[in-house]
Amino acid sequence: MENRYDTIIAGAGAAGMMAAIAASDGQRKILLVEKMDQPGRKLRITGKGRCNLTNTAPIRDFITHIAPDGRFMRNAFSMFFNTELMEFFESHGVPLVVERGNRVFPKSGKSLDIFLAMIKAIESDRNIKVLKNNRVTDIVTYDGHISGVVLQNGGLVHCRSLIMATGGCSYPATGSTGDGYDLLRKVGHSVSEPVPALVPLVCAEKIPEELVGFTLKNVELSICHANGKKICSHFGEMTFTPDGIGGPITLSASRDVSRILHGGETLTARIDLKPALNEEVLDKKLITDLNANGTRILKDAMRLWLPAEIIPFALSNIKIEHYKRLNQINAAERRKLLQLLKGLTLTITDTRGFDEAIITQGGVSCKEVNPKTFESKLVKGLHIVGELLDLDADTGGYNLQIAFSSGYAAGKFGVRNSELGTN
Ligand SMILES: Cc1cc2nc3c(=O)[nH]c(=O)nc-3n(C[C@H](O)[C@H](O)[C@H](O)COP(=O)(O)OP(=O)(O)OC[C@H]3O[C@@H](n4cnc5c(N)ncnc54)[C@H](O)[C@@H]3O)c2cc1C
Repeated sequence: MENRYDTIIAGAGAAGMMAAIAASDGQRKILLVEKMDQPGRKLRITGKGRCNLTNTAPIRDFITHIAPDGRFMRNAFSMFFNTELMEFFESHGVPLVVERGNRVFPKSGKSLDIFLAMIKAIESDRNIKVLKNNRVTDIVTYDGHISGVVLQNGGLVHCRSLIMATGGCSYPATGSTGDGYDLLRKVGHSVSEPVPALVPLVCAEKIPEELVGFTLKNVELSICHANGKKICSHFGEMTFTPDGIGGPITLSASRDVSRILHGGETLTARIDLKPALNEEVLDKKLITDLNANGTRILKDAMRLWLPAEIIPFALSNIKIEHYKRLNQINAAERRKLLQLLKGLTLTITDTRGFDEAIITQGGVSCKEVNPKTFESKLVKGLHIVGELLDLDADTGGYNLQIAFSSGYAAGKFGVRNSELGTN
């Protein structure tokens, strides 16, 4: 193998593959290094195998879905955003569709088609060499400039520019095991501690077996500190898991609470089972229902207000005699019923691990990276893209667009500018 390239890209995920395609100008010699036996393992399982590659929201809305500061992506998005990404795939033979919530998918419903379009573009390019089953184990610098990388099998390879695209820590079986964080720390970058996000939450209460997999629709999940101060609220669907809660709104909430939980705090989740009715209206409805069904026992009458599956668990949340007739329920007990319907409570102790987390929160500080070129402000010629950066976004195609846009900007403009010394 040659030991000198113009550009080396570490990691052939969404960001690294797009960086390779964008960096190729017919002359530059590019080496794309992937530690797994195949590139794009994670890309191929995205969107439950359908790949929600982007979202058609305008930049202004799009960046509000990104934390800690979506404005960092503004420059990259102004160069290569959702329309350019969609044009790229359609011109590479992958028709797309826009679905509910402005989510974009391949029409075929197969993430594999997204991967194949990218890998074909790479493999048909004589200037890009893909090196699989090999790993970047060190970044070599000289006098504040990048000078090469050390590979697990093959020693030192020189380059004029390096794009680090090794991803985060989530779904480590796909190859994303957080290597880049340590490599970049070693050359001086600050890395905020990676924590799992878009991940189910663990609770202290025992979830009854028959409730596992059950989905609550149109509920509001709020998560609060022990002193009652609210951290976040999300409306929609959630599911019970063997040791806690999952489903879309739990995953969204996990972005707001993961770091707090990993700091050791225990939190309270309140599930508003009747978010469409305020307490006053719901109380009136309870009074009407209790009067109209006076001879029924509470345990059976709970069907008036809740789906059958959740009733035993809900009743275990309140201290009222389950066999009481509704006409014997007093005002204090009605208040308890009201509180239950407006706030079924769980004690949240942790998140599930990286192996179940869709993304990693935390990473290389964006303050140390140029937002136009993704070049490191500490090492000339070094670029940092994709999930390695301290950027994380909601579900909906936002995370892949960050990977594609940052990879594109680094490949197209970053490496050229750093080679010319104009950054
Ligand atoms: C199950 C699942 C579903 C998802 N679905 C969606 C979705 O539908 N829409 C969306 O927007 N986002 C989705 N995401 C998130 C999205 O996949 C990631 O944000 C995105 O893939 C990040 O791209 P990346 O290129 O930065 O990193 P990755 O895709 O993680 O790629 C990093 C690559 O680097 C390689 N690598 C690691 N270390 C080294 C090393 N030392 N040397 C060489 N190579 C190395 C890895 O093997 C890997 O191939 C999903 C994530 C998961 C886990």
